[in-house]
Formats: sequence, structure tokens, C-alpha cells
Amino acid sequence: MKVVVLEPIHEKALELLKEKHEVSFDEKDLAEAEGVVIRTYTKIDKEFLDKFPRLRFVVRCGVGLENVDEKECKKRGVEVFNSPGSNSNAVAELVMGLMLSHYRGIHDANHSVKKGEWNRNDFLGGELNGKTLGLVGFGNIPRIVARLAKAFGLKVLAHDPFLNDELFEKHDVAKMDLNDLIASSDVVSVHVPLLPETKNLFGEERLGWMKKGSLLINTSRGGIVDETALIQALKSNLGGACLDVFENEPLPAGSALLTAPNLLLTPHIGAMTDKSFKDMCVEAVKKVL
Ligand code: NAD
Repeated sequence: MKVVVLEPIHEKALELLKEKHEVSFDEKDLAEAEGVVIRTYTKIDKEFLDKFPRLRFVVRCGVGLENVDEKECKKRGVEVFNSPGSNSNAVAELVMGLMLSHYRGIHDANHSVKKGEWNRNDFLGGELNGKTLGLVGFGNIPRIVARLAKAFGLKVLAHDPFLNDELFEKHDVAKMDLNDLIASSDVVSVHVPLLPETKNLFGEERLGWMKKGSLLINTSRGGIVDETALIQALKSNLGGACLDVFENEPLPAGSALLTAPNLLLTPHIGAMTDKSFKDMCVEAVKKVL
């Protein structure tokens, strides 16, 4: 079959694909293609599917399918393959890294030393040990975060109305309603998919209910945290926030987020480790083969 690869994928996955299929990287070949391989930024919507009616499958190297209209694909018999779970550990480790960096100011301290400064007293940080972490969504990623966080001495709460009580017990975390969790956590980490119900889940009101000085981390999807409301909350009750995902990616030049206080930003790198990048590409491609 003819397959067009529209975003960079791991070389091992490409090798496997080439063993069985005719691979192109040229969008012009889409009209002839039976398959496309994508990652985060290609939108497979009705318009795309109308334009390329020969398509029989979509390979999304990664987890979330927000950029693929699954219903429309199903209607047309276009199969969709992704690789759930392949990058969970990588994202969970980034969450821990963001938490540590926020409380110890590692990112700022690095810049400061490189500017020739030696301001130890500016870096009086906080400790994770003894704090409370609230996980919003309790799927693959936050279950790993919970395990890592407990090793650091954090108390872990979780909110996920779609899971049964036994699962929370098995992972030894306290199940909670969202608003109670928000009010009780020193760190809130968001791990839900972007859906109409989760759009702006963290808007002005909920951000306002977070504890004074608390930290919000979003490594899930842009749009779940209202960015304008977040900037306001950073000037009032929030102690800080860490964002790996944004309403608009790449983050536009001049975005107000770039100058907001106590905000640590990373360019959607949650899944970007050597192992996770390979696994998410190879696992998705293997399903097609
Ligand atoms: P998952 O599919 O394993 O779990 C999602 C969980 O969210 C499910 O348990 C579901 O019941 C729960 N959920 C759905 N709606 C909810 C709601 N309104 N309130 C509370 N819980 C709700 O997902 P995962 O693998 O843990 O991934 C979590 C998020 O991380 C997703 O948004 C995914 O797209 C994102 N992600 C980001 C990166 C990155 O590079 N930053 C990489 C991988 C995944």
C-alpha cells in the first residue's frame, strides 16, 4: 500500500513500515495513499477525509486522538491505530521533574549561575515531602505519578468519576470529588482527555478555589486550563503553574503566558524521551503491519 508519513517518526518504525509498504513523505502523494502516519499536529477531519477518499487507515503515533475525527473515520471504514500507554512513564517523570523544578527553582538557578550570579538566598525552595498531590483523571499516566509521588513523601488524592473504588484502593490513593480535591491539594496535576466536558475544566472559578500558594501542572492537553484565567490566578492565589501543553501550539510569539509570574513552560515534551518516542511510533506501526 502507499503510505504517506506526515510528521517525523522514529527510524525503527519507518524501517518496519518500509518493509511492507511504499512510503512517501510528500503531501502531494496523499491523493494516491491508502494510509497516513501522523503524530500530534495533523488534523484528520471530515475535510481531510473528503479530500483523500482512498484512505483506509490512519496511524497516530501517540496516545490522544483529539486530532482525529474517529466517528467520521469509522463511518467511512478508515481504521485508526494509536499506541495507548506507550508514553505514560515519560509523561509521569516529566510531572515529577516539573514539580521539583518549581519548588527548588532549578530552572531559574541555572540561568542565574550562567549570568555570573551566586544568589543562594534567592533560592530558598520548598519540599515535596509532606505535601498533598491531587490527580485529576486517574488513567495510565497519573497512576505512575502516584507511585513516584509517594516515594517522595507526598500524600496522593485522585479524582476520576469513571473508575470504580477498587482501582483507587489498589493504587492506595484517596478518591475524591473534584472540588474537594482542588481545595485540599498543594499540587494539582491534570491528566484528563480534552473533551467538550473537560474544555476549560480549570476556569476562573475552579482556579480561584485552589489553595493559596498551590501549584497547578498541566501535561494533558491545551484548552483544559483556561490560559487567561490562569494568568489572573497566578497574580492572586496560585503559587505557580507548569504547562507542557497549550491552547495554541506552537505558543504564539508575544503570548501573555511568556511574561506571567511563576510559570514554568515546556514545549509539549511529555512524551519526548528516547524510549517513549520509539515505543509510541513502533507500537502504532506494528498494529498496521
Ligand atoms: P488515559 O486514557 O489512560 O486516562 C484518561 C482518564 O481520564 C480515564 O481514566 C478517564 O476516566 C478520565 N476522565 C475522562 N474525563 C474525565 C473527567 N471529566 N474528570 C475526571 N477524569 C476524567 O489517559 P493518560 O494516558 O493517563 O493521558 C492523560 C492525558 O495526557 C491525555 O489528555 C493525553 O492526551 C495526555 N498526554 C500528553 C502527553 C504530552 O506529551 N504532554 C503525552 C501523552 C498523553
